[in-house]
Amino acid sequence: MQKVLQQLVELQKLDTRLDELIEKLGDLPETVKTLEIQIKNEKEQNEIRKTSIDENATMSRSSSAKIEDLNEKISKYKEQLFLVTTNREYDALTAEIEFNETAIKEAEDQVLQAEEENERLIKAHEDSVKNIDDMEKKLEEAKGSLAATQKETEEEKAALEGKREELVKQIPRNYYSVYRRVRKARNGLAVVPLLRDACSGCHNRVIPQKRVDIYKKNQVINCDFCGRFLYAAEQEEE
Ligand SMILES: [Zn+2]
Repeated sequence: MQKVLQQLVELQKLDTRLDELIEKLGDLPETVKTLEIQIKNEKEQNEIRKTSIDENATMSRSSSAKIEDLNEKISKYKEQLFLVTTNREYDALTAEIEFNETAIKEAEDQVLQAEEENERLIKAHEDSVKNIDDMEKKLEEAKGSLAATQKETEEEKAALEGKREELVKQIPRNYYSVYRRVRKARNGLAVVPLLRDACSGCHNRVIPQKRVDIYKKNQVINCDFCGRFLYAAEQEEE
């Protein structure tokens, strides 16, 4: 068989086996990645919540202090009411009292709002902490399974990768780039045997002249329909 074709057949075998090894890992790599992202997002959300909780608590404290001050002022004005001698002074004091009462009302609303908001945020934070806990347990499990499966296959994988690297160095660039392109487009299979006069990749019949060329084994032939490299089936074991 043409040397380059032999190399491509071998490369396909290596890649198919490497694909099988990756297949063995199943959803685990994706699960690990997804959980890691979700945990990170959830933790970021919690940091934002914590900041808001602190801000609300500070606001609530300062509004409460303000209410105390305002109440003191009102008490003083009320005492002064007994001492006034003119209507003008009386009106001025009652206006002050009303003004401060309105300010108290506003401050009380702020306290209430901040407390309600914090009640909601603290609950969300607690739920989130539980959720993170669950996800972290799942992540540990998935990581454990992934590591175990990787350990099972790592030796074979390393050997295959070593062989592959050596082989790829020997294959002419133009063939290798076609190989890669076809493999990517054709579900991992770029080199297939001719079976019953048809391409065993796409099952389309190969024209007689091309079949003759394939059996002559002195040139590299691609399927007209799917682009895969074709070789004579009985030589697979060569
Ligand atoms: Zn084909």
